[in-house]
Amino acid sequence: MDKRLYSIETPCYVVDEKRLTENLVILRDVANRAGCKILLAQKAFSMFSVYPLIGRYLDGTTASGLFEAKLGNEEMGKETHVFSAAYMEKEFDEIVKICDHISFNSFAQWQKYGKKALDAGRSCGIRINPQHSTQEHGIYDPCAEGSRLGVTIENFRPVLLEGIDGLHFHTLCEQNSDALIETVAAVEEKFGEFLPQMKWVNFGGGHHITREDYDREALIDCILRFKEKYHVEVYLEPGEAIALNAGYLVTSVLDIVHNGIDIALLDASAACHMPDVIEMPYRPPLWQGGEPNEKAYTYRLAGATCLAGDVIGDFSFAQPLSIGDKLVFMDMAIYSMVKNNTFNGMCLPSIAVLHESGELNIIRKFGYEDFKGRLS
Ligand SMILES: *Cc1c(COP(=O)(O)O)cnc(C)c1O
Repeated sequence: MDKRLYSIETPCYVVDEKRLTENLVILRDVANRAGCKILLAQKAFSMFSVYPLIGRYLDGTTASGLFEAKLGNEEMGKETHVFSAAYMEKEFDEIVKICDHISFNSFAQWQKYGKKALDAGRSCGIRINPQHSTQEHGIYDPCAEGSRLGVTIENFRPVLLEGIDGLHFHTLCEQNSDALIETVAAVEEKFGEFLPQMKWVNFGGGHHITREDYDREALIDCILRFKEKYHVEVYLEPGEAIALNAGYLVTSVLDIVHNGIDIALLDASAACHMPDVIEMPYRPPLWQGGEPNEKAYTYRLAGATCLAGDVIGDFSFAQPLSIGDKLVFMDMAIYSMVKNNTFNGMCLPSIAVLHESGELNIIRKFGYEDFKGRLS
């Protein structure tokens, strides 16, 4: 681990430019070989100070609504896509001005907004739900029973397809290409007759393309075959894969208490600064931290908020922890700074970049005004 991380004021998210670039090189290579376009899904990672770097490798951004669309358009440029489960009337005029592709979650939304989008020369799509679940995490499964995301084949309205250029599906989460291949088969089975009349098909996100065990050749074959069969442009819009394993959350031990177990209180909080730890739930990797009892000294690592459940997990260390020690959580670029909050009046972690040159730059610090500014 880079020594410079241990001299930084905590708590701080640090994005590692070298690792980010390694991911981007992989994604560019996939896009070139598959002949597809790859967008950054900003929902996972919206650190706009590195958008110029990302824009050198990817084709643009996708957004879940107006604010993300504006951010992508302002800070990266290139293609700006948007999908919202339901657009807000007061926002749509601005969306139409900046978004190249606009995907709708229902035919009612298409009927309501389609003319505005087409008049502005925008390319419109319908999100479909192939009703083929490939994962267990209910809250991250858009194909789960009762899902509001995407039009099922029962509700599909072929008579309303005039003006629609594309179909969009997003059903995966942290998955390998085998899950995509199954999903594409389900899409073809249910919606295959409509594919030849499309200009593009967006395969959504959830593709863990930059993970070590990801089968990229199978992904590329799948896209090439699809393009050849239907003569469409294929888009992927991963979020996680762009900044996977490319960031850290550096934190300090504030106090150590004992209650059946040794508990280290940190200046980083699961509830505020890594909410997926509680929501998913998952155990974040910690540099030099082992499983409980794997090394000599086991501690429960916890936030300094009043929430009893603000626990990051139990980890073991070769040496006892001391107050003031710094700990480095890994894989903290994605779904972290986009989801954090100031619950309990906790300060937001600073945001820094570790440049390829070795220089460590703090880009943004937060303070009391950020807490107060979103309340009244
Ligand atoms: C969340 C989401 C993505 C990105 O998903 P990752 O799991 O971060 O790759 C892409 N498209 C849509 C529509 C999404 O909701």
